[in-house]
Amino acid sequence: MIKNPNDIDDMSIGEMGALIKKFDWSHTPLGDPDTWPKSLQTMASVMLDNPFGMYIAWGPEYIQLYNDAYRPIIGDTMHPAALGLGAREAFPEVWHLTSPLFERVMKGEVVEYFDFMLPIIRNGIVDDCYFDISYSPIRTEDGEVGGILSTAIETTTKKKAEEEFKKKRSRRQFAGDSEGEKNGNHQITSAEHAFQIHNAETQKLQRLYEAVTGNTPDLIYILDLNYRFTYANRALLTMWGKTWEEAIGNNLLENGYEPWHAALHEGEIDEIVLTKKPIRGTVSLAYKNLGKRVYDYIFTPVINNEGNVEAVAGTTRDITDFRNTEEELLRSEQQMRTMVETAPLPIGVYIGEEMRIQFANQSIIDIWGKGNDVIGKYYRQVLPELENQEIFNQLDSVYKTGVPFHAMNQRVDLVNGEETKIFYFNYSFTPLVNKDGKIYGVMNTAADVTDLNLAKLALQKSEEHLRRTILKAPVAMCIFKGKDFIVDLANDKMFELWGKTEREVMYKPIFEGLPEAKDQGFEAILQEVYSSGKTFSADGIPITLPRLEGLEVVYLNFVFEPYREVDGIISGILAVAIDVTAQLTARKKIEEREQKFRALSETIPHMIWTASPDMMKNYFNQTFLDYTGLTFDELKGDGWKQIIFPDDLNKELPLWNQSIITREDWTIEKRIRRFDGTYQWYLCHTIAQKDDDGTIIGWIGTNTIIQEHKMKEQQMDEFISIASHEMKTPLTTAKGYMELLLLSLDDNNQNTLYANKALHSVERLHDLVAELLDASKIKNGQLNYNISTFDFNTMLDETLENIQLTAKNHTLQKVGNSSCQITADKERLQQVLINLLSNAIKYSPNADKVITTIQESEGEIQVSVQDFGVGISRQHLDKVFDRYYRVQEHAIHFQGLGIGLFISSNIIQRHKGRMWVESEVGKGSTFYFNLPI
Ligand code: ADP
Repeated sequence: MIKNPNDIDDMSIGEMGALIKKFDWSHTPLGDPDTWPKSLQTMASVMLDNPFGMYIAWGPEYIQLYNDAYRPIIGDTMHPAALGLGAREAFPEVWHLTSPLFERVMKGEVVEYFDFMLPIIRNGIVDDCYFDISYSPIRTEDGEVGGILSTAIETTTKKKAEEEFKKKRSRRQFAGDSEGEKNGNHQITSAEHAFQIHNAETQKLQRLYEAVTGNTPDLIYILDLNYRFTYANRALLTMWGKTWEEAIGNNLLENGYEPWHAALHEGEIDEIVLTKKPIRGTVSLAYKNLGKRVYDYIFTPVINNEGNVEAVAGTTRDITDFRNTEEELLRSEQQMRTMVETAPLPIGVYIGEEMRIQFANQSIIDIWGKGNDVIGKYYRQVLPELENQEIFNQLDSVYKTGVPFHAMNQRVDLVNGEETKIFYFNYSFTPLVNKDGKIYGVMNTAADVTDLNLAKLALQKSEEHLRRTILKAPVAMCIFKGKDFIVDLANDKMFELWGKTEREVMYKPIFEGLPEAKDQGFEAILQEVYSSGKTFSADGIPITLPRLEGLEVVYLNFVFEPYREVDGIISGILAVAIDVTAQLTARKKIEEREQKFRALSETIPHMIWTASPDMMKNYFNQTFLDYTGLTFDELKGDGWKQIIFPDDLNKELPLWNQSIITREDWTIEKRIRRFDGTYQWYLCHTIAQKDDDGTIIGWIGTNTIIQEHKMKEQQMDEFISIASHEMKTPLTTAKGYMELLLLSLDDNNQNTLYANKALHSVERLHDLVAELLDASKIKNGQLNYNISTFDFNTMLDETLENIQLTAKNHTLQKVGNSSCQITADKERLQQVLINLLSNAIKYSPNADKVITTIQESEGEIQVSVQDFGVGISRQHLDKVFDRYYRVQEHAIHFQGLGIGLFISSNIIQRHKGRMWVESEVGKGSTFYFNLPI
């Protein structure tokens, strides 16, 4: 046995033997052949010795050796350069195919290819040649795979024959002759012959086959044309559990094939004899202990020199696992595809520098929102809105550099129809590399984290919002963090409340920054809120805090609310506090005052009550209850109305309503029913209680009895009424006689002068009595009116003229005119004018004029009488229209009864007009009235 290439005998080894011997191996990773591992040395010598094409690729570099018969597979271009060269270096163009194959073999697998076609130049002609090529591991002494042995058996002739047969058969079928049958007979004869040759050569062949097939897990066998095994490799014998002797020479049935199985193969052998064509098939067999196994088998004819089939070589491979794996693979690939296509994760594949969309799953299509028709279009064309969003650059860079790009929480604005939608993605651009290591595209995977991001942003915003709110809050607010309640945030109001500066408390545990608050029970409350998560609130709680003047008790309304993080975990406490010390003190004061008021009101003999702003009475003192004989419940609210004399109540309610608007106090005289059912006169004074803003917060009323006074007044009225009535007739008679007397007297007589003076006095007395009578008629509602239509302006002119006659020192001026007719009591209106003009003259003794103005507007006439006299001070202004009211200061200098204005204003009121006065002391007064026309 040749040990190594150095010992090769030139003659016996052919061209390759010589080349290998000559080759300077020391420059290769294999080094000098003497140093080669034993298995390599042996395999190299077997190779050179072998008529089959054999090839060795050794070591991690796959350094190549091959024999003459393998040369066609190496090809002319690389021969002999391929010798001693690594497989990758020698054949880089097919390395992507070779490398995974070699790797499998290096892991111990045997890989075979049948009828592998290689175009080979022979005699200057390119020919399609076929080879059965197998790759099997060569193990070193320590059992590791050191290299690869490839064997190649040329099957070109067989393949060509097959082709030929195919052609013939189609011709035969076309001609319909029986050549096949004749051929078959001939074949059987040839097969017998072949069998003999085989027998003779069995030993030699067995060795040879063993060398080739001994290491493979495939079942390799040869059957003669009588279906007897002439060869079975180790794997097959092992499977049968038979020795060579026990198996060889037996037919299929004898070697344990089931009858259907034996019949199948026998038929196939017969067919091969006829066709000289290999048959490939699959059988599945059920074993007791192995279960169902699937076998792939190839029967190949062994053709003798005469061109006849002399035997059938069979190879069977257990493809159960492969099948399963293949099916599994197919299934998983399909699953994978469906998964990718329907995945909720957006996935896209873009090819070439121009980024043509080759694949886009529904998810990415939906996000793009450009419709389903995107495949084949350019990425940039589909998503032009990404132009300024860096994405194109990222894609370009991945395509050019091959460095994947990953982005987290990246905002991407996509245009969907009219609207631009904001998304946030975690996305990746991964380069796609082909077998040559060239980048041909980019795969885009993404996760839509928009919702997450928006939620996060919203949370951030709300957190910011909360912080801003706290800082700007009109009440004291702060956040304590952690179980030590560190002051994390507090607004100025809170610092103020604590009586501390920001520096003293910020970022410190609160009871460290504000030791004064310690041991007042707040530690436990905070702890409880922090651990239980339950809000705590309390009102008006006293706490001692530092103030400028030292420690002071302040009263707080406060809320401690657990402060939670995004995950809901409590990380602190939000505190809100309102200093209610001032309110509490104020409330206490009010309460005290109220108590005092009640104590007082219970002791005084007046009737006292209070009411809410809406006029609902809510308090009556004991005097009140005693007088009415009713209970509080009967009187409260508007229950009091039942005890007011109905006419008086009708006058009172409008007054009260009016004062709700004017917010002024008011007074009324009214009759209130006593417990015995009789009504007594009371002077009721109602005071509006107002807060600092002037808003009414309630009413307090006092009722003072005026029954006696009222009775006297009534008696007086009655007396005046009777007296004036009684006086009127004698006065009228006296006046008549005085006039008659004057007529009988000489004009220049002294008596005439006396009579005139007497008449003047009687007239004045007559007027006074008439006035008194009018007043009492008014009081009793008995003043009668004679209504007619007349020209007001003319009446005014006449009146002015008449008064002017007696007014010695004043000029009566008139301003304005009116042309309207008025329907009214002419005499009574004249009485009003006379009264105003007389007053104007009377109360302006030092003035020389009185101006009467008349004007007509919007359905009314307005008349004013202005004098430049003594005037009326403010506090008397609204009282001068009351009966018998006279301004005190005037009473000394001017005569009068104080009823003229009372009568005048009543007459105007009866004509649905209004009378009022404006005046300034020392400057004069202007009396106005208006009348509807
Ligand atoms: P009298 O008879 O007292 O004038 P009136 O009813 O006419 O009664 O007037 C009431 C009071 O109003 C008068 O007493 C007087 O004090 C005041 N008064 C009326 N007119 C004038 C005026 N023109 N100027 C100043 N005071 C006036």
